[in-house]
Amino acid sequence: MTSVLNNAVTAGSTFSETLANVTGYAPDLNIVEKLWASYYVYMANDILATGLMLFIVHEVLYFGRSLPWIIIDCIPYFRKYKIQDTKEPDFKEQWACMKSVLLSHFMVEALPIWGFHPICDYLGIQIDVPFPDLKTMALHIAVFFVFEDAWHYWMHRGLHYGPFYKYIHKQHHRYAAPFGMAAEYAHPIEVALLGVGTVGIPIFWVIATKNLHMFTVYVWVTLRLFQAIDAHSGYEFPWSLHHFLPFWAGADHHDDHHRYFLGNYASSFRWWDALLSTHPKTQRPKSGQKEKAN
Ligand SMILES: [Zn+2]
Ligand SMILES: [Zn+2]
Repeated sequence: MTSVLNNAVTAGSTFSETLANVTGYAPDLNIVEKLWASYYVYMANDILATGLMLFIVHEVLYFGRSLPWIIIDCIPYFRKYKIQDTKEPDFKEQWACMKSVLLSHFMVEALPIWGFHPICDYLGIQIDVPFPDLKTMALHIAVFFVFEDAWHYWMHRGLHYGPFYKYIHKQHHRYAAPFGMAAEYAHPIEVALLGVGTVGIPIFWVIATKNLHMFTVYVWVTLRLFQAIDAHSGYEFPWSLHHFLPFWAGADHHDDHHRYFLGNYASSFRWWDALLSTHPKTQRPKSGQKEKAN
């Protein structure tokens, strides 16, 4: 049973049969809404459907978005756009990183993902169709970006404090010249703490406004994931987003954090680091000191 379309549509024996049933019942829905509704009707178990979709979407998007950066690393033409062009991540390093990230996804993220639907249900995050209009979704996502960035800035800055760095955040700084897949290479405590910014902020939003759709959450998580992977790509192009949106952080901003260790703590935007002067160039270690703290 599913709450999508008020249980008015029955599942077919195949997914395409279910899609035909949904189309017959609600012909005005767009194709994404029809696929979404059919998936929930076909699965007939909302908890399993949401958990499975979130987990698969996360894995496919994370590694799918990392793959182009691995390919770009192999193409000499792109070398001129590499920010730290003397440091090439080798295959062994990337393989070790991938194994660690996969293990972390299964161990740390599996539980919140499986518990996500009951929480959403309790809080009133909608899964029904049609989806909210684009303006509403864009507004929600913009709010999440701004608040996640603030959360990330302060938590990340805190993680650079002595013992927190030594026992937690040091793992993420293993790569002084980052690459896409290193985005989520971090200690489980860090994954959980920074994950609050991505998942917790939509939860606070729905508690405050009682207005949030699960599809908006998916789009938000996707964009946030792409932002994190691209920020770790190690490449700065003439067409990088921050050239058009000067307050956007991107790889240009985060690569310096890995290289110089201090400053540039924010995730998506440059305003917190600008406001509080936590820029690597203002805190760069003086000559004679090591560039990267260990
Ligand atoms: Zn850091
Ligand atoms: Zn990083």
